[in-house]
Amino acid sequence: MTEGTGACGINCLTCGLMRQGKCSPCASGLEPQAHKKLAAQLSLLGGVCPILQCAVQKKIAYCSADCAVYPCHHFSSGPYPLSQGYLDMQIRRRTTARSGEAPQAPPRGKDGEKLH
Ligand code: SF4
Ligand code: SF4
Repeated sequence: MTEGTGACGINCLTCGLMRQGKCSPCASGLEPQAHKKLAAQLSLLGGVCPILQCAVQKKIAYCSADCAVYPCHHFSSGPYPLSQGYLDMQIRRRTTARSGEAPQAPPRGKDGEKLH
């Protein structure tokens, strides 16, 4: 476990909002803190993060490392926590051949720079 890291992979311990006491840390889907975070969201926001809720229900610690269907619709349907560009990169690299096989060409930025 990586304490203070949400199931989505965001490390709350590096976030200024948490350090300023304006937000509580998230957790993996296997930690008791995840239930506290979901309860706090429900109380303060009237709803919960679908990623964290799903990870808890599926008993998944970290989506990217532990879930076979990552990145799932919970990531692509919401406005955060990860950009569509990052999710596309994850999908591309997860389907790219390993060493010894021909790799796919990486995406390029507007001016042609290599992104990953
Ligand atoms: S997006 Fe969800 S899983 Fe990620 S840190 Fe926020 S509440 Fe936790
Ligand atoms: S289905 Fe999606 S939100 Fe649920 S554990 Fe897997 S990657 Fe995370």
